[in-house]
Amino acid sequence: MLLPDYVKKIDLPTPYAVGAVSIYYFAKADTAIDIGPDQKSTAELLNEAGVKTDKLRILATHGHDDHIGIAKNRQFSRFFLNDADADWLMYKYPGNDIAEKNLLKLGLPPLYVQGILNVIERIFKKISVPVYEAINEGELFDLDGRTFITIGTAGHTPGSVSFFLKDEGILFSGDAVLADITSNPGTIFVVSVPVGKCNFNPIKNYLETLDKLESIAPVLIAGSHGKLVENPKERIRELRRSYIERIEKTYYMLKTNPMTIFETARMIFRNHTADDDLILQLGEAMSYIYYLKNLNLIVRKDLKWYTV
Ligand SMILES: [Zn+2]
Repeated sequence: MLLPDYVKKIDLPTPYAVGAVSIYYFAKADTAIDIGPDQKSTAELLNEAGVKTDKLRILATHGHDDHIGIAKNRQFSRFFLNDADADWLMYKYPGNDIAEKNLLKLGLPPLYVQGILNVIERIFKKISVPVYEAINEGELFDLDGRTFITIGTAGHTPGSVSFFLKDEGILFSGDAVLADITSNPGTIFVVSVPVGKCNFNPIKNYLETLDKLESIAPVLIAGSHGKLVENPKERIRELRRSYIERIEKTYYMLKTNPMTIFETARMIFRNHTADDDLILQLGEAMSYIYYLKNLNLIVRKDLKWYTV
C-alpha cells in the first residue's frame, strides 16, 4: 500500500547517526507532521518541496531536534506538542561537572567521557521549547475533511504521539514504529535526566504502546525514518518480541554477572561507532535496568546491578 496522493513524504538530512528524517506534508490542509532539524538544508528542501511554512500547522510527534529543531527559529501558524516532551525540553543542562558525575555513575570508562560530554553540550545548545499548544491523546484534528486521531505512543520519549487516519487505516508513528530500526526507548536518559530522577519507565510504556497499536490495527505505518511499514501487524509483533528478548537477556546477563549500565549496553549492542550512538545505547540499557528495577528483580550495589 502506498500513501494517498494528498500527503507528501519529504526526507530531510539530519546531522545524527539515524540519517534522514521524514516529514509528512498535507498541502491542502496546510499541515505537516514534524518539520525537520535545525539546519540550513531543511529550509531549502522545504522550499523546494513547495511547503509554505508561514501558513503551516505543525503536529509534532515528539520533541527531538531532528523532528522539530527548525521550529525554534521560525513562526508557524500553529505548533502542537505533548506537554511531557515540552517538560524535558525545559530541563536545564546542569553543566559538565554534574553531567560527568552522572556519566561515571553509569560505569562509563573515563576514556569516553569527554566525547559524550561534547555531544550532550551540543544537544543542549540546540534544545529549546518552541511556543506550542499542548496536544493530548484522543485529540482530533481536521485535515481538509479527514480526521486525525492523536494516539499517545510513549516510549521513545515520554510525550511521543502518533496520528491515525482512521478511515484509511494509516498511522503516522513518528519514531514509535519504524521499518528497519527499533524505537530506542529511553532517549531522554543520559542526555537530559540524571540517573534515578525520572518516573518515566520507557520499556514498560513502549510495550503498552505496542499493545495499543496492535489493537488499533493500522494497515500502513508511516514512520519518521526509513521506509513505510507495509506489514504493521507483523512489525509490531516483531518489535515486541525483540524487546521482551532484550529484557530477558539483560536479566539473565545480570544474574550470571552483575554489571554497570555501560557494561550492560556493551553486552546488548555492538561496539559503538559514534559518540551519539553510544548515548542512545546507554539510554536504552538504562531503560532495561529501570524496567527490571521497578519489578524489584534487580538492585544496585556501588555501580553494578545484581539480581535479587
Ligand atoms: Zn526521536
